[in-house]
Amino acid sequence: MKKEKLIEAAKNFGSPLYVYDASKIKFQYKRLTSAFKNVKNLQLNYAVKALSNISILKYINTLGAGIDTVSVQEVLLGIKAGYSPDKIIYTPNGVSLHEIKKVSKMGVKINIDNLNTLEQFGNLYPEVPVCIRINPHVMAGGNSKISVGHIDSKFGISIHQIPLLLRIVENTNIKVNGIHMHTGSDILDIEVFIRATEILFDVAKKFKFLEFIDFGSGFKVPYYNGDNETNIEELGVKLSERFNRFCNDYGRDLTLVFEPGKFLVSESGNFLCSVNSIKQTTSTIFAQVDSGFNHFIRPMMYGSNHQIENISNPNDTSRFYSVVGYICETDTFATNKKISKISEGDILNIKNAGAYCFSMASNYNSRYRPAEVLYLNNKLILIRKRESFDDLIKNQVELDF
Ligand SMILES: *Cc1c(COP(=O)(O)O)cnc(C)c1O
Repeated sequence: MKKEKLIEAAKNFGSPLYVYDASKIKFQYKRLTSAFKNVKNLQLNYAVKALSNISILKYINTLGAGIDTVSVQEVLLGIKAGYSPDKIIYTPNGVSLHEIKKVSKMGVKINIDNLNTLEQFGNLYPEVPVCIRINPHVMAGGNSKISVGHIDSKFGISIHQIPLLLRIVENTNIKVNGIHMHTGSDILDIEVFIRATEILFDVAKKFKFLEFIDFGSGFKVPYYNGDNETNIEELGVKLSERFNRFCNDYGRDLTLVFEPGKFLVSESGNFLCSVNSIKQTTSTIFAQVDSGFNHFIRPMMYGSNHQIENISNPNDTSRFYSVVGYICETDTFATNKKISKISEGDILNIKNAGAYCFSMASNYNSRYRPAEVLYLNNKLILIRKRESFDDLIKNQVELDF
């Protein structure tokens, strides 16, 4: 997005503010579909947890996507956003059987990642088809918080448990309509990913009634100039060829499914905050902004390195700044970053703020969560109001003493 538009957004809607560029979401969607154009049936299910604003969900629906959900609430959001239940897949981990039962009544696809749950669910509803989440134990993710395919992971049914899985399927007579894996975020090595898919194909062969194979997600996007990313085009060529060969051997055209979150929305997002003060210490120049990990936790939680621009004064002499927040704990957005000279009142843009940013925001320090704006067809449209004091206390029960 142009800096002028972002400045206009900050002027109109205040700061801190999230601004999402719809055209970038569309671009990424097209990029992924064209990388897999040689696959007959492709289904992209957007992972709602990355950015769950209902207007974003509705926009992504217009592109033709389905959604991947991890809670009953995300399913409800998706239905409210207009997704038909058969384009929703529910991939819970560690939720109660009660919740899974509730979701299965809504007609969405169910993805089960626990043998114990499968057995109980299968005994109750042998007529409801399920997808099985396999853990191929391949380390593909970027760090231990987001890598979910390793041997100690709580996710998926281990490939070493396939005999028991088959026995449960036989005993309960449950129909398995899909095989799934999600190895974790930030895949860089295509070969490692392909190795995991081979394991999945091996499992898939054992089931006769499959409709789809879901390869999860974990596509990495570049966070700063020169950062690396998953080579989607290369993956498209290699996996499409392999998938088509599998379908040929299987005797039927299955649907190839992905569930990208970050890949679709990360780069669309800009997080605008304004500089409250400049503080020089013995070692550092701090730019202190009107935000913190209450609004944007990725750098503190995952160590992610986001590009930061001073959009109020983009072309001045650069200096090295630590950009920090106003929370009463260490909340460093960036350390020792070269940014065009910053003054009080300047607007900084923290880039790549579409995925796992607003959706992880909280009211810590009793601050309001930011507003959100969608930039669509050259218009800045408010899609979430800034919170107010009433929002902070509306569910609190105030006792009189
Ligand atoms: C979080 C998640 C995704 C999305 O991962 P990204 O790295 O954002 O693309 C997909 N599938 C499942 C099951 C997930 O939990």
